[in-house]
Amino acid sequence: MNKNNTYTLSNGVEIPAVGFGTWQTPDGDVAESSVLAAINAGYRHIDTAAVYGNEESVGRGIAKSGVARDELFITTKLWNTEHTYDRAKAAIDVSLEKLGLDYLDLYLIHWPNPVAFREDWATANAEAWRAMEEAVDAGKIRAIGISNFLPEHTEALLKTARIKPVVNQIFLNPSDMQKDVVACNDKHGILTEAYSPLGTGNIFGIEELAAIAHKYNRTVAQVVLRWSLQNGFLPLPKSVHEDRIKENFAIFDFEISDEDMAAINALEGKAGAALDPNTTTF
Ligand code: NAP
Repeated sequence: MNKNNTYTLSNGVEIPAVGFGTWQTPDGDVAESSVLAAINAGYRHIDTAAVYGNEESVGRGIAKSGVARDELFITTKLWNTEHTYDRAKAAIDVSLEKLGLDYLDLYLIHWPNPVAFREDWATANAEAWRAMEEAVDAGKIRAIGISNFLPEHTEALLKTARIKPVVNQIFLNPSDMQKDVVACNDKHGILTEAYSPLGTGNIFGIEELAAIAHKYNRTVAQVVLRWSLQNGFLPLPKSVHEDRIKENFAIFDFEISDEDMAAINALEGKAGAALDPNTTTF
């Protein structure tokens, strides 16, 4: 992490080290007001997706914040039904329109092996990627990346990619550290973004975390998000409550000891694991 709490992507673009999640955030007032609350609390990075169905409200929250566009970092994602060149090209424009933006900071292939393209996922990803590369050339997107990609998917994409993916956004928290995926990301200079950094809430059921949090006079959420940062990941916590939104961003002013980092690493398997993208039903 840089001094100004950003990471530098392999294409030179700076990305704020904590992003605000919006999955399962209801479209309408809730999405709009939580995004606005996040930006007011200091977040400069917002993560949404076409399939979340809330891009328009997220866009309204962004617009209402009054923060300059170039100070914000906005990510959205290509849904699983759109993995052809033509569909991906159109999907990018639809997301831009819904968000009310002239450009996206980051655009991701949401899943590597959708049911609709399971017979030839590698070709489908390569075709979608070509449309994404052209959108970069056209100035519509600053950086492109992947999500839920296992090493086999990443390696396949790299065979045809003209522009390398800069991010892989994966399920990552103390319960599932996905070490082989992270190793592949690192090998290719791909930043690992940690989605469900709080295990979609399941992390709070891990008893050992309460004692560690108490030691630092922090909450369990803060300790787990700090753990993510200290591992070099980019956590994307989601909340629709202003107090939690603020709490989840107050993680830049303390340090977890090596001993406690190791204790947190040992919690693997205690609160769920990543889905296998090759067997999902969507
Ligand atoms: P998460 O951030 O791991 O956890 C969110 C849950 O924890 C919500 O139920 C939230 O409740 C609760 N929570 C948040 N802060 C809390 C706090 N300080 N204390 C107590 N409870 C707290 O969940 P996630 O939504 O699964 O993941 C985060 C983001 O990652 C998503 O929103 C999305 O942007 C991204 N994501 C991406 C993918 C992908 O396939 N690429 C998949 C899943 C998620 P309230 O909202 O009620 O506060």
